[in-house]
Amino acid sequence: MKITSFSRLYALMLLSKSPRHGYEIIKELEGAIGKKPSAADVYPFLKDLMDQGYVEVGRTGKREMKKYVLTGEGKKFTKKILENLSKIIDAMIASKVTSCAHCSCKVYGDAYYASVKGRKAPFCCRYCAGAAGSGRSEGSL
Ligand SMILES: [Zn+2]
Repeated sequence: MKITSFSRLYALMLLSKSPRHGYEIIKELEGAIGKKPSAADVYPFLKDLMDQGYVEVGRTGKREMKKYVLTGEGKKFTKKILENLSKIIDAMIASKVTSCAHCSCKVYGDAYYASVKGRKAPFCCRYCAGAAGSGRSEGSL
């Protein structure tokens, strides 16, 4: 089963925290994405999860309201999805991280590039670039 939208991922995360009624999931999704998800999106997904054995329906309280509960398999499934997601995010961040050529601190996003001995090197700030440029290259070629 594939999690093809943020709404589905979020619904799973809500269930991984505690059992919820269908309408609670819809309400919390609305808060998270800023618009009301349609019941026609949420309930078929919950049913798919039930068909896969990831979610079961528990009945709680006097009014016998249905609560969706993540099963052991469902918890494993959710954990795997979150692990994969965090790997993707790590990789995205790692591809944008460079180390300062002077103080070797991590630079997120745009580094400050300067030429040192004719080669372009990344720095965290212009002071590091200046220190590396003037300090090391002075007197040596
Ligand atoms: Zn630096």
